[in-house]
Amino acid sequence: MSALIKPTAQTQTVLDRPFQLLIDGAWSDSKSGETLDVVNPADGSVIAKIPAGTEQDVDRAVVAARLAFEAGAWARMTPGDRAKLLWRIADLIEARKEEFAELETLDNGKPITMSTWVDVPAAVAALRYWAGWCTKIAGETRAVDMPGEFVAMTLREPVGVVGLITPWNFPLMSAVSKLGPALAAGCTVILKPAEQTSLTALRLGEVLLDADVPPGVVNIITGLGSVVGAAIAEHGGVDKISFTGSTAVGKSLIGAARGNLKRLTLELGGKSPTIIFPDADLESAIAGAGNSIFRNSGQICVAGSRLYVARNQFDQVVDGLVKFASEFKLGPGLDPATTMGPLVSDAQHGRVLDYIASARAEGASVISGGNAFGTEGYFVEPTIIGDVNPQMRVVQEEIFGPVLVATAVDDLDELAALANDSIYGLSASIWTQDISSAYKLAKKIRAGTITINSGSIAGPNLPFGGFKQSGWGRENGADGIESFTELKTVITAL
Ligand code: NAP
Repeated sequence: MSALIKPTAQTQTVLDRPFQLLIDGAWSDSKSGETLDVVNPADGSVIAKIPAGTEQDVDRAVVAARLAFEAGAWARMTPGDRAKLLWRIADLIEARKEEFAELETLDNGKPITMSTWVDVPAAVAALRYWAGWCTKIAGETRAVDMPGEFVAMTLREPVGVVGLITPWNFPLMSAVSKLGPALAAGCTVILKPAEQTSLTALRLGEVLLDADVPPGVVNIITGLGSVVGAAIAEHGGVDKISFTGSTAVGKSLIGAARGNLKRLTLELGGKSPTIIFPDADLESAIAGAGNSIFRNSGQICVAGSRLYVARNQFDQVVDGLVKFASEFKLGPGLDPATTMGPLVSDAQHGRVLDYIASARAEGASVISGGNAFGTEGYFVEPTIIGDVNPQMRVVQEEIFGPVLVATAVDDLDELAALANDSIYGLSASIWTQDISSAYKLAKKIRAGTITINSGSIAGPNLPFGGFKQSGWGRENGADGIESFTELKTVITAL
């Protein structure tokens, strides 16, 4: 671990104790006894070991979750008591916020300022938001168009046992954004965090026990996606999967879910455009575009990774972005001065550098950055690529790193077509002072979230999800709750 920057003693104590799987309210080793190394991406050191779960561990978790769903304290708990429980979990995370932030930074690499001011508070706020939903899940009454007298109503019931499979870019936030609505709806859960970043999920497991979540309601199985994730996805005892991750794995889940036709929510990849009109406030637009692609080292599903600017302003905007990029301070996330941490893993580091190499090979020019940074850890310089054409891999494929591809646009009427020239449709951001142009373009862009004169904004009450190959369904708000319920119609003849 970087010699100069160590976690606090409290966080080190957490790292030093053995991590186990949470099944049926108790901690246990994986059936195989095998473990995976947890690597600090800032220097490649091994900081902990986590259990490598197996199919048998998933089986045990599903049995426990089914039992908890059908009988016992959880099945009998009132919505108001579920709300109190969610609120208690939020309070407990908040009370340990420094420790959660340090664990997230050590595990993922992100700057401690981001873990402290974004990841952990957003997770706490989301749990409190979902707590409010417990008492507000409701059906409707409906008219019956038949002779006679009837009362017809719909009931929203929990969908059952749900598998929550999460990625590594916002580990705690992703877990909580699924756990909150699942528990609010009355489901029971098997959570499988990403193998690279399981620490905050495991610490969350301890919080759940401290909060007196009944046994079996939340089970946490760490391990490989190809083993644990696949076993959850194929399991006949799981009623729904809520997945966030790559489009490739998302597609594989469709096949895996076929056996029992389990419900699927898929939050997948993106290749989102940032569009700057000539009349935009350029200072704000440059800062917005820069933040959108470079924060969290570009490992954000809604990162604005494709930039479109009118040709006559291209140099001015790109120069502004080069300056913006040069101001990031790359370093270990635990250093409070760091504004850009490493990528999450050696594999991701190699992948991003391969994309930059592919751009060079295909004839694009690297305007700034373009290299690995430092002698240890998985750092990549914030990178801006120009002279691209729409067929290049860096324009079409999701890189998931701090790499912006910039295109000069000759005809503004082409903007919608350029923005939509992607298999993805997760988000887009438009910068202009002319709100009418902004709305017109927003209507034409096929994406789940569009921001105007702002970088990405997310919150548990704002529906989130993708068009096209960015996913199926929506998380957050009423739509997010509904995705964890089944609708039942009850008709009574009077
Ligand atoms: P990933 O490789 O698809 O992994 C996501 C999760 O799926 C991990 O927990 C992974 O486990 C698991 N997994 C892997 N193979 C599996 C299988 N065969 N069956 C079931 N689960 C399996 O994605 P990632 O690299 O972690 O995350 C980056 C991707 O997530 C990007 O594409 C990004 O756009 C997307 N993302 C989307 C959103 C959104 O809301 N739309 C938000 C954040 C990220 P292991 O890690 O243990 O292999």
